[in-house]
Amino acid sequence: MQEIDVDIAIIGAGFGGSLAALLAHQIGRSVVLLDRGKHPRFAIGESTTPIANLVLETLAGRYNLPWLKPFANYASWKAAYPDIPVGLKRGFSYFHHRRGERFRPDREHRGELLVAASYGPDDADTQWLRSEFDGFLVQQVVAAGIPYWDEFELTKGGCSQSGWKLHGQTKSGEAVEIRPKFVLDATGGDGFLVRTLGLPDQQSTLRTHSRTIFSHFRHIGNWDEMYRDAGGKADDHPFRCQDSTLHHVFDGGWMWIIPFDHGVTSAGWCLDMRRFPLDGSPPAVEWRHLLQQFPSIADQFASAESLWGDHFGFSGRMQRRIGQAAGRNWALLPTAAGFIDAFHSTGIAHTLIGLERLIRAWDEDWDTPRLWSRMEEYNTQLQVEIEFIDGIVAASYASFADFDRMVALTMFYFATAIWSEHERRAGRPPSTFLCAEEERFRTALEQAYRAVNDPTVSTPELEALVNLTFADINLAGLGDPAKKRMYAYPRSETHG
Ligand SMILES: Cc1cc2nc3c(=O)[nH]c(=O)nc-3n(C[C@H](O)[C@H](O)[C@H](O)COP(=O)(O)OP(=O)(O)OC[C@H]3O[C@@H](n4cnc5c(N)ncnc54)[C@H](O)[C@@H]3O)c2cc1C
Repeated sequence: MQEIDVDIAIIGAGFGGSLAALLAHQIGRSVVLLDRGKHPRFAIGESTTPIANLVLETLAGRYNLPWLKPFANYASWKAAYPDIPVGLKRGFSYFHHRRGERFRPDREHRGELLVAASYGPDDADTQWLRSEFDGFLVQQVVAAGIPYWDEFELTKGGCSQSGWKLHGQTKSGEAVEIRPKFVLDATGGDGFLVRTLGLPDQQSTLRTHSRTIFSHFRHIGNWDEMYRDAGGKADDHPFRCQDSTLHHVFDGGWMWIIPFDHGVTSAGWCLDMRRFPLDGSPPAVEWRHLLQQFPSIADQFASAESLWGDHFGFSGRMQRRIGQAAGRNWALLPTAAGFIDAFHSTGIAHTLIGLERLIRAWDEDWDTPRLWSRMEEYNTQLQVEIEFIDGIVAASYASFADFDRMVALTMFYFATAIWSEHERRAGRPPSTFLCAEEERFRTALEQAYRAVNDPTVSTPELEALVNLTFADINLAGLGDPAKKRMYAYPRSETHG
């Protein structure tokens, strides 16, 4: 049996686990990286945001990984890695659909919301084709000389007074005992440490109840062209709505459309399970049934071909929350600790922010008693963030029938995200993702959640609540009627 003593064992080689391994290596920690699967492999979670890319850039610079930096921006990615497929993401766009009716643009853009996240393609965000991007990262892990075992079967793990012992088997059948000082669970939703340590499942504390069906496609219609053909004033759009993470929103759910440059498009429905309960229908059948209900979306998919045939990806309830996300010598990456929904693309940014905190704690307090309190702080921050994201998403689902209310609620995401980007560029990153620790935002979110579920509260009252809450950080002028829900990316002294 092979026996290995190492500082950190990282379980799961998604982009989070691979980056954790590379960064830990850069700060002088010995690492092993294990995955039960093998690259290249499909992974969901493709749309990045400015915060995600700012953190990626910071990590590349702070820990001397110059090859990583070009991935933080669409233009630099295309220039440095022309062979790794990517998509152009200029911002977020939302279009409101009513069951059985065609989407009809109007001159006031009442059924639309576009929020730019960049000034142009040169500083735009990216859509990650995860099979290729994650595969590239793992190649860098191997090139850095970090031990990486794919198709590794972890058979047993446990932590006693004398420390961690992980037992497993390599793909060639060799038994291995790993004795790490620290274990990082980067398994996404698998819950390796949840099982090993018996961590508390707190799904019941979450308010969002959604599930998903998705696939990758060729030949999805270009929404920008369809919008123009339907008489829409696309010239008012701050960017071509096709170059975005496109949200088709309707009562009870929404659909994402994420185009990549090489002709493949990711698309998926996220459905409120209380409105769309799982009824045992095959996902491909349900997919077609959903399309039939929304004629304009059906038009967009008229020639679409699923790359996986009828084998669509799908889930039960997506929401997860683990009550403890870190201890003295272990931690869960954010997605392992909790996940809510793909709405507003929070997963990649949250993962990178969690990673940034962990690496800093390891770098500054490794082998000191302070590491424990850093891990306690990491757990507290993650819990606050998961709760805040859940509040935003749950309130959004409750508002999908009434687009004006949904637009008002998006301020909880966009005002805090754009403010965080500004503060980060100025060297003052907020201590939590989306300023989730700020009591006044949390209180307002609670009020908004109640308001959106209360038909006696009018939309102007809800709008007044959010306008007042974010008045001092609303850099993009969100909610300004003169902008007709078309928001350019705000200029700041430190950017653009
Ligand atoms: C439907 C959906 C849509 C999403 N869309 C977006 C989006 O547009 N933007 C966004 O920012 N985020 C999105 N997310 C979230 C995003 O997918 C995650 O935040 C991200 O994938 C987390 O990356 P990770 O590396 O932590 O985990 P993962 O990418 O899940 O990787 C986990 C790795 O661990 C390995 N593994 C699992 N169990 C074990 C085990 N027991 N032993 C060894 N290895 C194991 C797996 O093989 C895998 O390689 C979405 C999520 C869902 C569910």
